[in-house]
Amino acid sequence: MGNIVTVTGMVLSSMPVGDHDKRLVLLTKERGKLTAFAKGARRPNSHLLAAATPFVFGSFQLYEGRNSYTLQYADVRSYFTELARAQPEIYYGFYFLELADYYGRENADEGGMLNLLYITLKALMDPRIDARLVRRIFELRTLVVQGEYPQVGACVSCTEKEDLRAFSWRRHGMLCKACAAQEPDAQAVDASAVYALQYIVCIPLQKLYSFTVRPEILSQLDRVVGRLMEQALDRKIKSQEMLELMAGG
Ligand SMILES: [Zn+2]
Repeated sequence: MGNIVTVTGMVLSSMPVGDHDKRLVLLTKERGKLTAFAKGARRPNSHLLAAATPFVFGSFQLYEGRNSYTLQYADVRSYFTELARAQPEIYYGFYFLELADYYGRENADEGGMLNLLYITLKALMDPRIDARLVRRIFELRTLVVQGEYPQVGACVSCTEKEDLRAFSWRRHGMLCKACAAQEPDAQAVDASAVYALQYIVCIPLQKLYSFTVRPEILSQLDRVVGRLMEQALDRKIKSQEMLELMAGG
């Protein structure tokens, strides 16, 4: 027989199944990424209707069967409903969920990624921060959570901490002025961009979205983190195409 488990998590995606049900992918602190069926969730009077929706964050009571989970009850802390009406923010939101799905593992502690996702969606709805900056911060911090982040505190070549002037994707980190001259892959970056990269990697989570940058610094972060993500991901993230379309138009 199965048993009931309660997990803290977020709905990453939701797919219709049969006539009335939904199949959800949840990212949870306790059980990592998991699939749960929400029976009857598409019926208008279902108590699961509102909860079986992407971005919903809260506590989920699941019945653990032999091969799958079934959602029994959800105690929702945030629906992020304002996000659904915000454009282009909603597209960034779906991209963040898809990236969390890409990295999510079953039966792992996904608490770190879950917290990052939650504060990132909050930041996305803050009009003071450009959504493009939120994206680059989320991406780089995701690499930190996954342990795949570049060396930004010192030169990857000579360990010099001062005079960092360039980023190299090939060397996966910062280069000082002298070493940058030797590296064909080096991309020059301003001191403010270096500082922003260091801040994103090191700062405690609750302070992550407490800064903004000038447009030219955002362009540098776009280039550095954009190529880092191309390097890190082994397949295309579908919702990324929508973001590229918006950037081009
Ligand atoms: Zn150096």
